[in-house]
Amino acid sequence: MLYETFEKIYALEKQGKEITKLNVGEPDWRPPANVIQVVCDALRKGKDKYSSSAGVYELREKLAELHGCNAKNIVITTGSKWGIYALLSLHMRAGDNTIVLSPHWTAYDLICKQLGGQTKIVDLKMENKFAIDFNKLESAIDSNTKFIILNSPCNPTSKAWSEGEEQEVISIARKKGIIVLVDDAYRDLCFDARKERKFEDNLFIVNTFSKTFGMTGWRVGYVVVPEDIAKRLTSLNNITTTNVPVFLQLAAIKALEQKTKVTAKARVVCKKRAELASNILNKKLIFSKPDAGFYIFPKLPVETINFVNKLLDSGVAVVPGAAFGNYNQHIRISLSVDEKKLRLALEKIAELL
Ligand code: PMP
Repeated sequence: MLYETFEKIYALEKQGKEITKLNVGEPDWRPPANVIQVVCDALRKGKDKYSSSAGVYELREKLAELHGCNAKNIVITTGSKWGIYALLSLHMRAGDNTIVLSPHWTAYDLICKQLGGQTKIVDLKMENKFAIDFNKLESAIDSNTKFIILNSPCNPTSKAWSEGEEQEVISIARKKGIIVLVDDAYRDLCFDARKERKFEDNLFIVNTFSKTFGMTGWRVGYVVVPEDIAKRLTSLNNITTTNVPVFLQLAAIKALEQKTKVTAKARVVCKKRAELASNILNKKLIFSKPDAGFYIFPKLPVETINFVNKLLDSGVAVVPGAAFGNYNQHIRISLSVDEKKLRLALEKIAELL
């Protein structure tokens, strides 16, 4: 449903309709100028050939420093989406399942199904501030469970579970002999500035340059995994994507050098927009306050498919909550346009309510 909404909007835009796209899962900020410059220089220097399927060594080394491991534990992937797909495909066979806390990013479910497996959905409630029911989570694990996916902060709620809650999930998984795959796409955008996640056993870390650095279209992601898994993933890259273009990986090294500055700036932007949304929508809607990033996931008194269509007619695109699980009364609003446009669009939403 998420991707169908996107296609519908592209078609409307093609007809010349102006849409404020609060449906997209990408930030509006640009990568730093010197990062773009590295791409241009690298291309001129001919850094545009096939390369290692594990990734550029220097980039892997820098990432290993961040995550407290060895470069051998890092594989650069074509976006983190491929990292997730590849890791699941190395482990899941027909009949296996992966546990997902919901509301959830649609791709997890689609990937599991594509691999002939199942997703076991553990629904969380906005009324409980999307707190994890650990008993429910533990009892969802069975002999065919391969992973728990933990996406904290979460797309679509921007809920970031505390370190204690995250550790509880990891220790349940460890006790049961399964792996936690942490999808940290939005971790850098936590308002409370989290520390880098460290590598530990039974944890697969998946991350991306997409959101933090506004590099969604560059397709630079990575995984942090045990060495044997890194080797298998490198072989899989070898027979599929080969490598993320070297000129983009070199630029990613430049981006990493500026991570502290970039993330601090992004957090300020996100926080400001979250406050703006809260001020405009609070009187009409209930939603749990975001802990990070640029999504909010309010609940309406009615099912939202019709509302989303009507809103689109008035030039504002959001995604119906049903795209993220059993959340028919929710909508996901992506606060990823400049404040002026955002204010107007949010006022339209409030008006239509
Ligand atoms: N994880 C989550 C939760 C996401 O929302 C997205 C992108 N929407 C991704 C992973 C994938 O990002 P990318 O492939 O650009 O790294």
